[in-house]
Amino acid sequence: MDDNRIMNENVSRTLGKDAQRNNILAAKIIADIVKTTLGPKGMDKMLVDSFGNIIVTNDGVTILEEMEIDHPAAKMMVEIAKTQESEVGDGTTTAVLLAGKLLEGAEYLLDKKIHPTVVVKGYRIAAEKSLSLINELAMPLKDSNVLRQIAMTAMTGKGAEGNKEVLASLVVRAVEQITSMHENVGDINLDDIKTEKIKGEKTGDSELIEGIVLNKERVNQEMPIRVENAHILLVDFPIELKNPEAETRISISSPEQLESFIESEERHIREIADKIISSGANVVICQKGIDDVAQYYLAKAGIFALRRVERSNMEKISRAVNGKIVSNINDISIDQLGRAALVEESKQGNESLTFIKGCQNPRVVTIVIRGGTIHVLDETERAIRDGLGDVISAIKSGKVVPGGGAIEIELARRLRLFAKTVPGKEQLAIEEFASALESIPEALAENAGLDPIETLTELKRRHEQGLSNEGLNLLNDKIEDAFLAGIVEPLKVKTQAINSASEVSTMILRIDDVLVSRNKDTHMERSNYQGLD
Ligand code: ADP
Ligand code: MG
Repeated sequence: MDDNRIMNENVSRTLGKDAQRNNILAAKIIADIVKTTLGPKGMDKMLVDSFGNIIVTNDGVTILEEMEIDHPAAKMMVEIAKTQESEVGDGTTTAVLLAGKLLEGAEYLLDKKIHPTVVVKGYRIAAEKSLSLINELAMPLKDSNVLRQIAMTAMTGKGAEGNKEVLASLVVRAVEQITSMHENVGDINLDDIKTEKIKGEKTGDSELIEGIVLNKERVNQEMPIRVENAHILLVDFPIELKNPEAETRISISSPEQLESFIESEERHIREIADKIISSGANVVICQKGIDDVAQYYLAKAGIFALRRVERSNMEKISRAVNGKIVSNINDISIDQLGRAALVEESKQGNESLTFIKGCQNPRVVTIVIRGGTIHVLDETERAIRDGLGDVISAIKSGKVVPGGGAIEIELARRLRLFAKTVPGKEQLAIEEFASALESIPEALAENAGLDPIETLTELKRRHEQGLSNEGLNLLNDKIEDAFLAGIVEPLKVKTQAINSASEVSTMILRIDDVLVSRNKDTHMERSNYQGLD
């Protein structure tokens, strides 16, 4: 039957081979974009948005998130990066590159007239086998020195490069601090480690603070600068005249009316202030604004107040001090207050910071990141986040693998041996899967300006001899035992990458029909496809 009779004219359709090739191409383009950033010698990308804002980064997920990608298959690739980021916090480039290479291998098999379902089946077998092999190959996490190596491996080549020793020990100390508070390592939460960026000083001066640090000063100089035995009220509504944001129109015809209007507004503020004061709070942290009148009352009562604190920080403070975030004036009461030994404002360089120390829940710590420019700060923060993710992940699973491509080479080798035992054309797909794994060390070498073929050949030769931890050390450009060189990664980075790369590549391979509804924005959908055809 003719499609057009049953389908709305606003739906465009790409079928069979065309759909497949188009999707594979899109996925390969995404993988190619991030490929050159892989590893310590990877290059950075400069991203410029339509407002001219600039981000300089080496971080796979950041690159893909900032690019406005429309193609449906390309979007699926971006999703892998996001999942990898949220599940492990590192390994985004690896996951995306792996998926791209899996699809490239699939394309090669399709050209040889192998049916997509065979490729899909082969890839599934290969993924499953890889996961069981990698679990056998992984080593138990020994001590916190290994954690430092993991943090360093995560941060090598990132913006933090020059100070990675200092930053790696901050990362490990931060994680150990929160780990010591948990009985079950499964409860360790990345959200309990806050980062705060401060411009103007050297990155090497970054430090770890127990408790919360906010890049904020108290709203009013009349307020106390230091509050001991703090009773902290958290609110997410404005402590301001009734409706300051909405444009209120009132018609006033006499001075008396004006006066009574102002009076009623002031009464409202007074009421909130009284409620706060009588709750026993001596610190108020507000997500919205606090106006002059409210500031006056709070300052007079000796209360320390911060305003316009971001939601994510409100939540961290709430957890740290065991206080509720109050959304309704009538709910303000002593039961909602959080506690901390000290809330203090302190000047550091040009900035005034607020420290919340001795929190009731000492699990929350802050890494104060210092750096010369906002670009350096942002990239250092991303590197630290990668390090934190990896260290936490290593503690949780208790298992590590050698980096520098060592684990990928060994997996590929064993996978090829296994392939020989699999009958049918699936065998070819398993071999392609092995090649995709080898593309990781290949890209590491290529990005460092080394000969990728030579490197790969030498790596394979050594692994054949049973040297299963040999990897490429890009600190000295030598092939050596990655564990001994201190290039260590958590197991989960690799299992997650293998999992999601194989999932998304098989999902894309199984698509043979792309239907795009043009109802909403015809122009946009058309232009997506033009770019890739
Ligand atoms: P991803 O987003 O996948 O984490 P990265 O750019 O962080 O990408 O690179 C990670 C890769 O770099 C891993 O394969 C890791 O083993 C490798 N790597 C890290 N440090 C070194 C090093 N000193 N020598 C060689 N490879 C390294
Ligand atoms: Mg990384």
